[in-house]
Amino acid sequence: MSIQENYNIVKSRLPQHVELVAVSKTHPVSAIQEVYDLGQRIFGENKVQELSEKYPLLPKDIQWHLIGHLQTNKVKFIAEFIDTIQSVDSEKLIREINKEAAKHNRTIKVLLQVKIAEEETKFGLETEEAKILYQKYLSGEFPNILITGLMGMATFTEDENQIKKEFLNLKKLFDELNQQQPLETLSMGMSDDFPIAIECGANSVRVGSAIFGRRDYSN
Ligand SMILES: *Cc1c(COP(=O)(O)O)cnc(C)c1O
Repeated sequence: MSIQENYNIVKSRLPQHVELVAVSKTHPVSAIQEVYDLGQRIFGENKVQELSEKYPLLPKDIQWHLIGHLQTNKVKFIAEFIDTIQSVDSEKLIREINKEAAKHNRTIKVLLQVKIAEEETKFGLETEEAKILYQKYLSGEFPNILITGLMGMATFTEDENQIKKEFLNLKKLFDELNQQQPLETLSMGMSDDFPIAIECGANSVRVGSAIFGRRDYSN
């Protein structure tokens, strides 16, 4: 199937209120341009190097989301143009993003990435850490950051109940933080599990292979 057909199918499966982040990692600029021309404006990449190479070659009204683990020493390479960093998994990182955003006189949107998967995952805040970080944010510690929501990834499994359970845990935390100060975005769900994520309350999904086709190497 063509990228256009894939894109239309994915779009048709998303309710109006659900935002689509088209995950273009490992795919060429020409494929991104093709999806852009279909009307898509939000794209996600997981590596600073790859994003920095693609950014200058594509239209400037793309809202770029970083969705992969970010090392503090690389924040400076994307601070000038990144729209949202979905993968904030430490206080050290949020401090660095705040500092670099200030240098460029801008505000960078971030999502707190929370560890919800039962399987061993390297990255993500524990629920308690996320709560503490949100308190610090609410007390005004990061003036050049806008925490707009939460991001999570479920265990890679066929067990739908397991996936559902994990997504619902993140939804619960979202509701809790949302009561203190409203949050916009609950980012959960990828190509294989986005319908479940939406059922569980996601209003933003990160979809790669269902649009662009399979990646040549695991990433
Ligand atoms: C690669 C990636 C996605 C998209 O995965 P697909 O299965 O290709 O849809 C979503 N979120 C994150 C964090 C990713 O790294």
